Amino acid sequence: MAHSHFHSLSNMIIPKARKLTDSQLEEIRRIASEFDCDIGIVVGASRNIYAILGEERRELLINRISGLEYIDRVEGVDAPFKLMDRRSALAANEISIGGVTAGREPLFIAGQCTIDPKEPGLFLETAAAVKEAGAHVLRGGVWKPRTMPYSYQGDDRALEIILEARSRTGLPINIEVMDSHQLGLAVEARADMIQVGTRNALNYSLLKEIGSQTAEAGTCILLKRGRHMSDVNEFLACAEYLAANGNPNVMLCPRGTLPTLGEYRSHPDESITPLIKEKTWAPVVVDPSHSVGRAAYVPACSLAAMAYGADGLCIETHVHPRKGIGDDPKQAIRPAALRSLLKEARQVWDMRNRYR
Ligand code: PEP
Ligand code: MN
Repeated sequence: MAHSHFHSLSNMIIPKARKLTDSQLEEIRRIASEFDCDIGIVVGASRNIYAILGEERRELLINRISGLEYIDRVEGVDAPFKLMDRRSALAANEISIGGVTAGREPLFIAGQCTIDPKEPGLFLETAAAVKEAGAHVLRGGVWKPRTMPYSYQGDDRALEIILEARSRTGLPINIEVMDSHQLGLAVEARADMIQVGTRNALNYSLLKEIGSQTAEAGTCILLKRGRHMSDVNEFLACAEYLAANGNPNVMLCPRGTLPTLGEYRSHPDESITPLIKEKTWAPVVVDPSHSVGRAAYVPACSLAAMAYGADGLCIETHVHPRKGIGDDPKQAIRPAALRSLLKEARQVWDMRNRYR
């Protein structure tokens, strides 16, 4: 068993080296099992940490593990989000994709809402154009969560198209998955970023499965904020599910909550970013497209998001929005608009960093 499903998490074992050797891990597991506990592995980009699982508040168990010569310390964590908490041992975790380390410079994700399997050429054109405009990651909906069951639901064949776009452009790809079948295909295709959409943000079984299936590869996960979610804590608990199941490489994505402002698709929630940052080390990548839901409003929302402290943006972009399907006809911007917007977003990034 490489990665466990955690029942309770209160103590984290921090080794002196970047990770435990197999025989050290075996020794710790043996000690834990004497106390009816198990050990879970949390694979970080720079180091692994190990969680004691079970009813582990036994002083003797903790003392025995702390006493091993290859262990730096055992940390009792009492924050609600043991791993995603700003103060956790994982706070040094850095997440890199597309040549960008989140937090050091702005990260830009762009591409179509939906890949039309009948129009592979359009997606390939969009992919080349967003790269040219400065995007670091290519997005493209292969499978779509649609409000109506009669709307286009996505297609396994669209996966081939985005893989082709990746190999042509060299851009890493973001794919949303909604179930085990899709997750399996995305993992097999080595998707560089897996998206959990707003509808599945609270699907704990799916979160657990994604965490464990991507643990080994340490794939980036873009976790959208649920459109019906309440406070920051509920959102962070979802990220904690991913980390606790083995993959802490989570980026948090506010994308608007239930609409209150008439003409906007959702209630724009980019102002939540400073509150998220109070509690977690995880990067924040805002999705202005689903927040406001209209191409004309996307630039203002994007710049506001940067002003509020976002580490990046995810923007729906299409070479010919009117020829698009899904959300693209109404909310995708064109590559030329993307290019100038990303430039301005960088300027806001610089400005706002003066206030840090
Ligand atoms: C999308 O990214 O196209 C999408 C469906 O996002 P959300 O889950 O935020 O609605
Ligand atoms: Mn969309």
